[in-house]
Formats: sequence, C-alpha cells, structure tokens
Amino acid sequence: RADAAMYLAKRNGRNAFRFYTHELASSVDARIELESALRRSLRNGDLTLFYQPQIDRSTGNVVGVEGLVRWRRGERLMLPGEFLPIAEETNLIVDIDQWAIREACRQSRQWQHAGLPPIRVSVNVAAANFDTDSLVETVTAALHESGLPPDLLELEVTETTLMRDVQRTDRILRALKNLGVRIAIDDFGTGFSSLSYLGNYGFNVLKIDQSFVRDVTEPNQGAITRAIISLAAQLQCRTVAEGVESEAQLAWLVANGCDELQGNFFSTPMPASDFAEMMAKQPHWPMPEPPRGMHMH
Ligand code: C2E
Ligand code: MG
Ligand code: MG
Ligand code: MG
Repeated sequence: RADAAMYLAKRNGRNAFRFYTHELASSVDARIELESALRRSLRNGDLTLFYQPQIDRSTGNVVGVEGLVRWRRGERLMLPGEFLPIAEETNLIVDIDQWAIREACRQSRQWQHAGLPPIRVSVNVAAANFDTDSLVETVTAALHESGLPPDLLELEVTETTLMRDVQRTDRILRALKNLGVRIAIDDFGTGFSSLSYLGNYGFNVLKIDQSFVRDVTEPNQGAITRAIISLAAQLQCRTVAEGVESEAQLAWLVANGCDELQGNFFSTPMPASDFAEMMAKQPHWPMPEPPRGMHMH
C-alpha cells in the first residue's frame, strides 16, 4: 500500500509530503478500492448510459441525445462527479469512454430497429483518449459493429482537450472527421483557450455551457450567448444550449436563434428504455414563437 500511496502521491505532485499522514493513507486506500470497484463494474456491465434529449428549435423534434455515464453500485446510482475524477487519475477513463462510444452506437441503432426516427448520439470524450491511437480504432469498430451511420455519432470534446497537444489532437480529430463523425465543443466559453483553433476544423457544434444559459435573460450574460450563437453561425456550426431549465430561458434561446436545446426543462437524463417510451408518447415539443420579423440564420 505504501507503494501505491507513493505512486498516487507522485502523480499528485505538489502535495506528496502529505501522504504520510494517517488520514491520507486511508484516503488512498479508499481511492484504490474505488478504482478497482469501478474497473470491475466496467467489466460486469454495472456502468450504464443515461440519455438526455436534444430538441431542434425549428421543428420541436427530438433529434439527438447526450449519453451520460452512471454507475449502478448496489442500491446507489452514482453520478460522474463522484467517480470520473478517479477514473481520470488512473486513466480508466479511456476504457470507460471507449465503452460508452460502443454502447451509444449500439443503443441508437437499436432504437431505430424498434421504429424510432434516427437519433443522433453524443458521447463525452475525455482528454486522455487523445494520448492513444485507439480512439480512432474504437470509433471505427463501434460504427462497423452497430451499422450506425457516422453522422449520427457526435463526440464532445472540451477546449482544454483541444489545447493540450495540438499536433496529436489535430491528427486524431482529422482522422475522426474523415470517418464522418461529428465533433462538438462541450462547455464552450468556459476553458482557458485561444479561439484560434476554431478555424482549424469544421467543428459541427458549439455547446453553450449551462453557466451562460442560467442567467441568459440578464443583458450581459445574454450578450455573451448572443455572441457565441453568431460566431457559431459564421463558422457554420450548430449551437446546442445546455442546462435549459425554464420557459424564460427557452424563449430567449429560441428568439436568439440557438439551434438545439437540452436541459431539465425538457427531461433529465434517463435510461434507454425510458427514452424509447418518451419518444413513443412525445417525440415533439411545442416551441415558443420567435418574435415577428426576426431574421433567422
Ligand atoms: P456535460 O457533458 O457538460 O453534461 C451536462 C451535465 O449537465 C450532465 O451532468 C447533465 O445531467 C447536467 N444537466 C443537464 N441538464 C441540466 C439542467 O437543466 N440543469 C442542471 N443543473 N444540470 C443539467 P452529469 O450527467 O452529472 O455529467 C457531468 C459531467 O460528467 C458531464 O458534463 C461530462 O463532462 C462528464 N461525463 C458524463 N458522462 C461522461 C462520459 O461517459 N465520459 C466522460 N469522459 N465524461 C462524462
Ligand atoms: Mg457533454
Ligand atoms: Mg457540457
Ligand atoms: Mg459541463
């Protein structure tokens, strides 16, 4: 255990000296236990994806879902915030994300077989996936084995990922784009990055972070969101607003030309079977009328 503690301490760098205290030693135990439980769960099928609908502004139709990982741990359903940090520290995140890609492709295809309209699936891809070449292989395999058309798979990356190792990331992104999958920038506007990378590829989507959506009806926040929407339009990118919770936010986003809406106002993330049921009952949401005379791009 001391070795493991040393290993984690080294990995955590700055605070290495602290691991000698009893508290930290036992928290190292807890982390190692969490990691091996997570690894077992990934093997045993105890990780699952929940899906949150994305609604097209112009039609009100559900056109996509974001797949979000959940961990069924006994009676508990654990949220990413509780276990992804340790998955990232131990690089298990790469296996989790590659599992999620295959699972999302399989699921979307299965919905289609069950008679639902084609549903685009988005999967979050953590930075560490860009350190290996297996991401491109996994995506290729996932599309092949599911038969999902590539443009129904969307990969969400953050600005931080894009800034990490520019050349490597560039090469991998191009390979992914060549496969025909869509690339979205997640949490757009929250990373510490230059905007210069935006011109490099045809990103398909900018996801407007929920921190901008929360107070979007306030003038300064609204100005930022309006600027993001306009930037995206000029780059021929679609915009998806995250974390839409209220009618007022929805009305503002529709009036200002945001392309797609996602958030608890419509539905929280749910198991695949609930999504299929929801689509059978309500594949379409009424959208607020945009103000008259408004020019839409
Ligand atoms: P994200 O990709 O930005 O996903 C959006 C998060 O906002 C989700 O949290 C979702 O449940 C939550 N959300 C959706 N609508 C609303 C709303 O109206 N209000 C509020 N307050 N929250 C809303 P979740 O599922 O806990 O996931 C958190 C983060 O964990 C995700 O943020 C993503 O960064 C990461 N994540 C989730 N699944 C995966 C995965 O399979 N792989 C990787 N690498 N990361 C994942
Ligand atoms: Mg996301
Ligand atoms: Mg996000
Ligand atoms: Mg987020």
